[in-house]
Amino acid sequence: MFNSYLENTLRYYKDKCINCKRCTEVCPHGVFVEGVANAELVHPTRCMECGACALNCPVQAIEVQSGVGCAWAMINAALRGKDMDSGECSCGGDTGSCCGELK
Ligand code: SF4
Ligand code: SF4
Repeated sequence: MFNSYLENTLRYYKDKCINCKRCTEVCPHGVFVEGVANAELVHPTRCMECGACALNCPVQAIEVQSGVGCAWAMINAALRGKDMDSGECSCGGDTGSCCGELK
C-alpha cells in the first residue's frame, strides 16, 4: 500500500527543533502540532510538499522538496486546465495519501 510519508519528501529532524512553533502556524494541513519541548510530527501523510514549514524553520529541522509531488501536480494540472490524471503525481490518490481522504 502506498505510504505517502515514505514516498513524499518531508523529513523532520526533531533533535534540531527549538520549539519556535512556526511550522505549526504555517502548515495548512496540521502536519505538525505544538509539543512540550519540540514540535510533533503527527500527520505526515497529510503533507502536500508546499515547503512552508521548511522555509520558516529557523534551524533547518525540516526538509521538504517543494515543486514535486502532489501539490505540484495539482497546481500544474490547474494551470493547464487538466485533471489530476494528467498531472505528475504518482501517489494514485490512495486513502491516507496526500491526494486521498485525510485521516
Ligand atoms: S511542506 Fe507544507 S503541507 Fe507539508 S508539512 Fe510543511 S507546511 Fe505542512
Ligand atoms: S519551525 Fe523548526 S524549530 Fe520551529 S517548531 Fe517547527 S521544527 Fe521546531
